[in-house]
Amino acid sequence: MSRGDMAKPLLGHGSTEGDPSVTPASGRTIGVLGSGDFARSLAIRLVCSGFKVVVGSRNPKRKASLFPSAAEVTFQAEAVKKTDVIFVAVFREHYSTLCDLADVLAGKILVDVSNNTEINHHKESNAEYLASLFPACTVVKGFNVVSAWTLQSGARDGNKQVLICSNNQEAKRTVAEIAQVMGFTPVDMGCMSSASEIENIPLRLLPAWKIPIFLALGLFLCFFTYNLIRQVIHPFIREQKNKLYKIPIEVVNTTLPCVSYVMLSLVYLPGVLAACSQLYYGTKYRRFPDWLDQWLQHRKQIGLLSFFCAALHAVYSLCLPMRRSHRYLLIETAVKQAMEKKMNIWVEEEVWRMEIYISVGIIALGLLSLLAITSLPSIANSLNWREFSFVQSSLGFTALVVSTLHTLTYGWSRAFDENQYKFYLPPTYTLTLLVPCTVIIAKVIFSLPCIRHRLLRIRRGWEKGRYVKFVLPSATGEYSSGETSSNV
Ligand code: NAP
Repeated sequence: MSRGDMAKPLLGHGSTEGDPSVTPASGRTIGVLGSGDFARSLAIRLVCSGFKVVVGSRNPKRKASLFPSAAEVTFQAEAVKKTDVIFVAVFREHYSTLCDLADVLAGKILVDVSNNTEINHHKESNAEYLASLFPACTVVKGFNVVSAWTLQSGARDGNKQVLICSNNQEAKRTVAEIAQVMGFTPVDMGCMSSASEIENIPLRLLPAWKIPIFLALGLFLCFFTYNLIRQVIHPFIREQKNKLYKIPIEVVNTTLPCVSYVMLSLVYLPGVLAACSQLYYGTKYRRFPDWLDQWLQHRKQIGLLSFFCAALHAVYSLCLPMRRSHRYLLIETAVKQAMEKKMNIWVEEEVWRMEIYISVGIIALGLLSLLAITSLPSIANSLNWREFSFVQSSLGFTALVVSTLHTLTYGWSRAFDENQYKFYLPPTYTLTLLVPCTVIIAKVIFSLPCIRHRLLRIRRGWEKGRYVKFVLPSATGEYSSGETSSNV
């Protein structure tokens, strides 16, 4: 690609450079119908981005002072005449009041920025409704996912993406160029039938987080109940001791690491299941079941929640010595030992266990923080694919192994102590080991050369029962090519 080509904007297929008859994106006149919050913020951003702005209001005299002096505020019909791209910053309910402008609007691009108050509120999207009212216009849906606040702050705060759809490619490109000049990132969502989906986006509350949050809450509830039975209900029933004070900190603090650890293993379990499926069917072209697809898509959120629980666990653990109950128990133990004239209370094994346990825990938290930071879009965008997969896959798996060591050093030999089996229930940490150890063992098996080699071939397109040409890297990193048929 020549330097000249690289200097051209990607979106600028309809580049205006060198063509005096065409107005460049910035510098052209943009119309805004309406003078509310959105219209005002939009006008400010457009003016700042070098556009001429003409605002159409039902009452221009009253509203003019709300707009920057560089923007012209006039009657709706006047404004519409001066431009061929008009943002309709008016609620859907009031679209019909614009019908008087149909003649002056004919042939122009209308940008529908409207949102609804409920998901799928109307049968047809607002943009389609606007298009039906003004059949002589070209309607583009866009900018509705951007708030008035984001417009004013100039895309520094909030979402930078502007989702755009229209049945007219040229109109869509014009609006995309305007968005780009304003500092936003236009995202082509296809034709007008996507408008409903785009209008629903601002109304959805954390759509990608629903399943991971329910998963975390479900795990928390299960482990919390289990720990409550072991730490509070058991001493109450067996020894009539009131241990309710343990609920706010101790029970919660033994529950959080369980949730964090299991959630971390659930980030890697779908990858293991996917690999099993690929090995079993001998192809990567067979679709995974929907539940596995969904699970794979939610790994980032599951990982972030795992980090959140681990961070809370660290804070709770640091606060343990601050509690009154801890001080009373410490003094009680000290008095008991003094009365029993026990001078040497140092248990070498316990000292080592705690040193290793805490150290490994800190490393695990550090690795999880790294994973969380690199999953932020701004950081992830600055990494290439190799770096990203190294952090998320290799470091992530290391975090799982280190967390397992943390759990094992916490439990130490307690799994073999029958006093630890309250109501015949094994210590909680033994339960949490189940899924992570399965994942670790599976990963170790997949790394065996014979299985790794087959998996690698499948992921490069080889299929069981098909005669294909393949190229594989050898152990030395060199590529070898060959032809193979099924079951070779
Ligand atoms: P707003 O403050 O209530 O402004 C609406 C404007 O519509 C009024 O100022 C009015 O301007 C004009 N209008 C034209 N015909 C009207 C009529 N018959 N009755 C009442 N008003 C009429 O609302 P907004 O917050 O700017 O929202 C405008 C559009 O932007 C909506 O479709 C909304 O969904 C969308 N939007 C807003 C935001 C946001 O953050 N506010 C974000 C995304 C999308 P004149 O009196 O000057 O004619």
